[in-house]
Amino acid sequence: MSEPRPIRRSATAALRSALLQRNDFRCAVCGVSNDEVPLDLAYFQPLSQGGDASPENLIILCPNCHVDFDRRPREIEFTTFLVNLLTAHPAFRSVEQEPVIGSRERLRPDILAARRTAKAEERLVIECKTAVAIGTKSAGAVAHQLTRYAAHIHGARPVLAVPATLSEGQRAVIIDPAT
Ligand SMILES: [Zn+2]
Repeated sequence: MSEPRPIRRSATAALRSALLQRNDFRCAVCGVSNDEVPLDLAYFQPLSQGGDASPENLIILCPNCHVDFDRRPREIEFTTFLVNLLTAHPAFRSVEQEPVIGSRERLRPDILAARRTAKAEERLVIECKTAVAIGTKSAGAVAHQLTRYAAHIHGARPVLAVPATLSEGQRAVIIDPAT
């Protein structure tokens, strides 16, 4: 197998500067500029939990937001919390965490569940994201991914679960991914 070697433990300087550029040299949460305060790289999934130093797993934050970020529930914790919640809820059944769906491409949405409604039962494909993970720039990508998942399950409703309140900008992009 010739899989690309994972990037070593720490993010390289080149990756850091690429990510800074992607973020216009601003903190992804509060927007403070790198000129005002040196920005940090933070990991969505920590290295200690199997995360890697890939652009998808990294975010640019100022030191203040970094402290907040580290206190937030991680996506995996939020996903597990939601799975437990839905499993205990009488209106939901067949709750699965990270099931593999799709035949040709293997896709793994965070949660698959069925919800009984007055008329019938609907299937939900749920993607869990921390609010930071759907900064305005990546909100379109999140919406696109959800649509792809839902397309693999006939009639499934795509659901984005966020353990926070979205900013106006994030909401606009999620509700209308075309913008
Ligand atoms: Zn900040």
